[in-house]
Amino acid sequence: MNNAPLTPHSEKDCIFCRISRGEIPARKVYEDDDFVAFHDINPVAPVHFLLIPRAHIASLAEADMRHQAVLGKMLAMAGQLAREQGCADGFRTIINTGKVGLQEVYHLHIHIIGGPQPLPPMLRKS
Ligand code: AMP
Ligand code: ZN
Repeated sequence: MNNAPLTPHSEKDCIFCRISRGEIPARKVYEDDDFVAFHDINPVAPVHFLLIPRAHIASLAEADMRHQAVLGKMLAMAGQLAREQGCADGFRTIINTGKVGLQEVYHLHIHIIGGPQPLPPMLRKS
Protein backbone atom coordinates (compact mmCIF):
# COMPACT_ATOMS: atom_id res chain seq x y z
CA MET A 1 0.00 0.00 0.00
CA ASN A 2 1.23 3.47 -0.82
CA ASN A 3 1.32 5.51 2.37
CA ALA A 4 2.78 8.62 0.76
CA PRO A 5 1.01 11.68 2.13
CA LEU A 6 -1.22 13.62 -0.22
CA THR A 7 0.30 16.88 0.93
CA PRO A 8 2.53 18.80 -1.47
CA HIS A 9 2.68 21.81 0.89
CA SER A 10 4.19 22.25 4.32
CA GLU A 11 2.28 24.06 7.03
CA LYS A 12 4.79 26.88 6.78
CA ASP A 13 3.94 27.85 3.23
CA CYS A 14 0.38 26.48 3.11
CA ILE A 15 -1.77 29.30 1.76
CA PHE A 16 -4.74 28.48 4.01
CA CYS A 17 -2.53 28.24 7.13
CA ARG A 18 -1.22 31.67 6.15
CA ILE A 19 -4.79 32.99 5.88
CA SER A 20 -5.59 31.42 9.27
CA ARG A 21 -2.53 33.15 10.80
CA GLY A 22 -3.49 36.47 9.20
CA GLU A 23 -0.32 36.57 7.10
CA ILE A 24 -2.22 37.03 3.86
CA PRO A 25 -5.56 38.78 3.47
CA ALA A 26 -8.90 37.08 2.99
CA ARG A 27 -12.49 38.29 3.11
CA LYS A 28 -13.38 36.49 6.31
CA VAL A 29 -17.01 35.86 7.20
CA TYR A 30 -16.36 34.11 10.51
CA GLU A 31 -13.49 32.95 12.71
CA ASP A 32 -13.00 31.43 16.12
CA ASP A 33 -10.33 29.36 17.85
CA ASP A 34 -11.08 26.29 15.76
CA PHE A 35 -11.88 27.38 12.22
CA VAL A 36 -12.05 30.25 9.76
CA ALA A 37 -14.58 30.97 7.00
CA PHE A 38 -13.73 33.27 4.09
CA HIS A 39 -14.94 34.05 0.59
CA ASP A 40 -13.43 32.01 -2.24
CA ILE A 41 -11.16 34.18 -4.36
CA ASN A 42 -12.66 32.70 -7.53
CA PRO A 43 -16.37 32.20 -6.79
CA VAL A 44 -18.45 29.87 -8.93
CA ALA A 45 -21.81 31.17 -7.64
CA PRO A 46 -23.15 34.32 -5.93
CA VAL A 47 -22.28 32.76 -2.55
CA HIS A 48 -19.05 30.80 -2.38
CA PHE A 49 -17.04 30.66 0.78
CA LEU A 50 -14.68 28.16 2.38
CA LEU A 51 -14.52 26.74 5.89
CA ILE A 52 -11.06 25.67 7.03
CA PRO A 53 -9.88 24.22 10.33
CA ARG A 54 -7.03 26.22 11.88
CA ALA A 55 -5.19 22.93 12.29
CA HIS A 56 -3.35 21.93 9.13
CA ILE A 57 -5.08 18.79 7.87
CA ALA A 58 -3.95 18.22 4.29
CA SER A 59 -7.20 16.66 3.10
CA LEU A 60 -10.21 14.68 4.23
CA ALA A 61 -8.15 11.57 3.47
CA GLU A 62 -5.79 12.54 6.30
CA ALA A 63 -8.54 13.35 8.82
CA ASP A 64 -9.05 10.99 11.73
CA MET A 65 -10.79 10.85 15.11
CA ARG A 66 -8.53 13.58 16.51
CA HIS A 67 -10.33 15.98 14.17
CA GLN A 68 -13.85 14.85 15.05
CA ALA A 69 -14.73 17.88 17.16
CA VAL A 70 -13.55 20.57 14.76
CA LEU A 71 -15.01 18.89 11.68
CA GLY A 72 -18.31 18.39 13.48
CA LYS A 73 -18.32 22.02 14.57
CA MET A 74 -17.67 23.23 11.02
CA LEU A 75 -20.61 21.24 9.67
CA ALA A 76 -22.81 22.22 12.60
CA MET A 77 -22.21 25.91 11.86
CA ALA A 78 -22.37 25.70 8.07
CA GLY A 79 -26.10 26.30 7.85
CA GLN A 80 -26.06 29.41 10.00
CA LEU A 81 -23.08 30.88 8.12
CA ALA A 82 -24.67 30.07 4.77
CA ARG A 83 -27.93 31.77 5.76
CA GLU A 84 -26.00 34.81 6.94
CA GLN A 85 -24.33 34.98 3.52
CA GLY A 86 -27.66 34.87 1.68
CA CYS A 87 -28.38 31.17 1.15
CA ALA A 88 -32.01 31.33 2.28
CA ASP A 89 -33.15 28.29 0.31
CA GLY A 90 -30.23 25.93 0.53
CA PHE A 91 -26.68 25.51 -0.63
CA ARG A 92 -24.17 22.86 -1.67
CA THR A 93 -21.21 21.63 0.37
CA ILE A 94 -18.21 20.18 -1.45
CA ILE A 95 -14.97 18.74 -0.12
CA ASN A 96 -12.57 17.94 -2.95
CA THR A 97 -10.07 15.33 -1.84
CA GLY A 98 -6.78 14.33 -3.40
CA LYS A 99 -5.87 13.73 -7.00
CA VAL A 100 -9.13 12.01 -7.90
CA GLY A 101 -11.18 14.74 -6.22
CA LEU A 102 -9.19 17.44 -8.09
CA GLN A 103 -8.15 19.09 -4.84
CA GLU A 104 -6.05 22.19 -5.54
CA VAL A 105 -5.21 23.47 -2.06
CA TYR A 106 -3.94 20.80 0.30
CA HIS A 107 -5.44 22.15 3.50
CA LEU A 108 -8.84 20.56 4.15
CA HIS A 109 -11.66 22.94 3.26
CA ILE A 110 -15.40 22.78 2.84
CA HIS A 111 -16.84 24.79 -0.04
CA ILE A 112 -20.23 26.38 0.70
CA ILE A 113 -21.82 27.31 -2.60
CA GLY A 114 -25.23 28.81 -3.25
CA GLY A 115 -27.23 31.76 -4.38
CA PRO A 116 -30.75 32.70 -5.18
CA GLN A 117 -31.01 30.33 -8.16
CA PRO A 118 -30.69 26.52 -8.06
CA LEU A 119 -27.18 25.31 -8.86
CA PRO A 120 -26.40 23.10 -11.85
CA PRO A 121 -26.28 19.35 -11.21
CA MET A 122 -23.07 18.32 -9.49
CA LEU A 123 -22.17 15.23 -11.50
CA ARG A 124 -23.95 13.87 -14.53
CA LYS A 125 -24.59 10.18 -14.96
CA SER A 126 -23.10 9.07 -18.25
P1 AMP B 1 -10.07 22.90 -4.17
O1 AMP B 1 -10.06 22.62 -5.64
O2 AMP B 1 -11.24 22.25 -3.47
O3 AMP B 1 -8.77 22.63 -3.52
O4 AMP B 1 -10.41 24.43 -4.05
C1 AMP B 1 -9.49 25.42 -3.67
C2 AMP B 1 -10.24 26.72 -3.68
O5 AMP B 1 -9.46 27.69 -3.02
C3 AMP B 1 -10.53 27.27 -5.09
O6 AMP B 1 -11.95 27.43 -5.24
C4 AMP B 1 -9.79 28.61 -5.10
O7 AMP B 1 -10.49 29.59 -5.82
C5 AMP B 1 -9.68 28.92 -3.63
N1 AMP B 1 -8.57 29.79 -3.26
C6 AMP B 1 -7.27 29.63 -3.59
N2 AMP B 1 -6.51 30.60 -3.04
C7 AMP B 1 -7.37 31.39 -2.33
C8 AMP B 1 -7.21 32.57 -1.54
N3 AMP B 1 -6.00 33.14 -1.36
N4 AMP B 1 -8.30 33.12 -0.98
C9 AMP B 1 -9.52 32.56 -1.15
N5 AMP B 1 -9.73 31.44 -1.88
C10 AMP B 1 -8.68 30.86 -2.47
ZN1 ZN C 1 -2.48 24.50 6.03
